[in-house]
Order: sequence, then C-alpha cells, then structure tokens
Amino acid sequence: MNKDKVLYYFEKINKIPRGSGNEKAVSDYTVAFGKSLGLETIQDSNNNVIIKKPASKGYENSAPVIIQGHLDMVCEKDTDILHDFEKDSINVVYDGDFIHAEGTTLGADDGIAVAMAMALLADDSAEHPALEVVFTTEEETTMSGAAALNISELSGRRLINIDSEVEGVFTVGCAGGRKPAVHIGVEYIAPPYDCFGEITIRGLLGGHSGLDINKGRANANKLMNELLEAVIGEDCFLCTVSGGAKENAIPRDSKAAVCCRSFESIKAKLSQKLADIKERFAATDSGIEISFVPTEKYDKVLSSKSACNFINAIKEIPNGVIAMDTELNMVRTSNNIGVVKTYENEIGIFCAARSALTAEKLAVYSEIESIGNKYNGKTTYRGDYPAWEYKSDSPLRDMLVRIYREMFSKEPVIEIIHAGLECGILSEKAPDMDMLSIGPDIYDIHTPMERASISSIERMCNFISEVLKQMK
Ligand SMILES: [Zn+2]
Repeated sequence: MNKDKVLYYFEKINKIPRGSGNEKAVSDYTVAFGKSLGLETIQDSNNNVIIKKPASKGYENSAPVIIQGHLDMVCEKDTDILHDFEKDSINVVYDGDFIHAEGTTLGADDGIAVAMAMALLADDSAEHPALEVVFTTEEETTMSGAAALNISELSGRRLINIDSEVEGVFTVGCAGGRKPAVHIGVEYIAPPYDCFGEITIRGLLGGHSGLDINKGRANANKLMNELLEAVIGEDCFLCTVSGGAKENAIPRDSKAAVCCRSFESIKAKLSQKLADIKERFAATDSGIEISFVPTEKYDKVLSSKSACNFINAIKEIPNGVIAMDTELNMVRTSNNIGVVKTYENEIGIFCAARSALTAEKLAVYSEIESIGNKYNGKTTYRGDYPAWEYKSDSPLRDMLVRIYREMFSKEPVIEIIHAGLECGILSEKAPDMDMLSIGPDIYDIHTPMERASISSIERMCNFISEVLKQMK
C-alpha cells in the first residue's frame, strides 16, 4: 500500500456521489472491485460490504485482522457553490501537502479509509494475515450500517477502524448515548395583561454536544431558563418558548414570548441578568446577546403552575459535564439540553446524554425521568447506542503503540472520545473484539474546508503496512 495508490482509489470513489443514505453506487463499485480481484465479496441489504483477502505467504497461521471504514460522507458546501451531491463527482484538488475539494466537503472522512483498504486489497506484494475489509454505510447519520452488519461473517477478533482524524492519536474507547425527551404537560389561561414581549438569546458558540461539552460554553436553553426564572411571576406569564436545533448540538439561540404588566420592569430585570451572564461567560462564550422587544398579542398564556413545572424541570435536568474520568482526565458522562419546543399541550425538552459507562448513561436517563415525573412530564427516548468501553487488556493496542514508537520515535496519544463511533456498535456485537481507531490528519471535517494531509496519509500507509507485516 503506498500513498499514490491510495490517492488513486480515493479519486475513483470521489467520482461516485455517496452522501449518507445514498451509498448503493459506491457500495456496488467496491463489490465489483473485490470481485475483479477474485476475492470473496459480500454485500448485505444495507449496502455494507465485506471483502476477504487470504493471508500472504508465510502468514497462513496468523489470526485474521479486520480493517474497517465507512462508505458515506457528510455533504456540505459553500452557499455560492453549484454542486449536486446526488449527481456530481468531487474533484480532488492538490495543494502543497493538502488535498481538498472545490467548495464542498472532501469526503476524506471516511473515503481515505476505503481507499487505503482498496490499495491493500489490490497489492500483491503486501505482507499480512488474512484480511477482512469491512465498509459500512450511514455512519454519519444513524450508524445503521454497522448496526445491521452480520458479524458472524467475520472470523477476525482484532479490528483496525480507520475513522479518526488526528495522526498519532489512537482512539480506544467511546461514549454511548441516548436521547431522552421530557414532555411537560401544560395548561393555558387567558392573558391577564395586554403587553407582550419577546426575549431572544443569540450569539452563542454552540458546538458538538460531546466533543465540546467541557469547554465551558453557554447553553441557550439553560440561559433562557435563568431569564424566565427571574421574570415569570404574578406580573409576567410565559406564552411560548423554543430553543436549539438538534439534541446533539449545544443550543446557540432561544426565544420566549411573555405577557407582562410592565414592559419596562421586565426589561430592567433582564438587563441585570445579562450583565451577570456576560461576566460568567466572558472567557468561554463572549458573544452572547440578549434582547427584549415588544411583540404580537398571544391569545393564551401558560398557567403559573405549568410555567413553574417547565422552569423547574429545566433547572433540575443535568446539563453539561456530569462525571469526569479522573484517571484519563476526560469527560465520562454528560447531558445536553439541546432543544426546547412548545406544542399545543406540552413543552418538549430534548436532550442528548452520553457516557463511556453504560450504567451511568442509564442513571442519567432515570434521573431525567424522575425530574419529568415530578413536573407533570412523561419521558421517552430515542437513538440509544452503546459505548465502546476501554479495555485495559488490549494486545492490538500494545502492538500498535510499540510499532508507532519504533517508527516515529514518539508516543501516540491514547484517547477515549466523548462521541459515538461505530466501534461501540461493533463491540456490542462482538464483546471479545480487540479494536482501535486511527487515521491520518484530516482537518475541518464535515465542512467545505475539509482537507487531508498527503504526508500524513503516507505515514499512516507505512504504519498500517508495518503493523500488518508484524502480525506474523
Ligand atoms: Zn467518519
């Protein structure tokens, strides 16, 4: 496997549109590729592909190894770019040490893994144990490919996942997650006053609810709740509240409408609060803006009891980092109150909870459920996925660390990430699987700025080749 071959295959697969959910064509392409090499090739109904290559000479008695990546990519483009992700191919632009696309995501996440595996499969001179190459689908959305993968097709019990983006960082575990939703039942009354105002919070940094949860950033839904707590009472009623876009994104904005006796007195209370908030987040989230302007009339407002239930629930639902792993000094458990939305008879509070420990994830869920119960709320959940729990005993990790040290004269960083990886799903299917996730340097993934380092791809090619060679 050399970098030129990898880039050759990468350009080939980049000719085929392959946004999540649209993997059929690229899946078929890799199937044809496997078959053209005379290799055993399996495609399932989720368009996952398994290609098996026998051991090279001298490795017949070595245990097989699985190489895994995902076929799909995130489709993002600059607003002024004409690009149809269903039809158009992505041209790879060479620019010094980097490859990038033309105003779109590049798809190096995770096309580089697919290209590396293809180069390995096609290389007759490569030395390795029996290879089981696995390409999955819909990783970027639901991980439904990995979830549907028939693990009994695989005999390997060590797996190298090539879906990490920092060379020299070995990922050895990841958080599991669940998305709890609390539906607070609410009642309305006629508006007691005819003055209405809208509170808007915006300008927050937001971010990934896992990877950015420990950065001290403000959560717009929590901030709005503080404001509402300060103003809602006898002379101010809540009409409606909504904030955030996705459970797994830290909310950047929120809006609430209130019905009040005096606009000016609410405005005064809010500006006091704003000063307080600005001071608290001066270092970590300095762009917060809060405004209060007159708005249209609402024909009903939440009863005091209902508003109180909602405010107390948001106040008590844990948000942000819940537990740290002190040994590894990283976030172990967190929750993000991602979305708040007012419906006809309820206010929905939608969260994303994560934990490296399944028991803690379930504990967060049941805590949220009890809070819901206390405040006339029913709790449901969706999107449950398992953690990939760190294994203290991992011969594969030990081997890769040793070879990395020998080849590059430095220590790799061993990391457990606070986000989901397909390895979590695969480890649930095969708890005895020894796994590790690596990859070359890829920057600004999931954005049109995505670019990959050619020299890093080359080093990873050499590294993986050497690892396989030493698996005798
Ligand atoms: Zn990926």
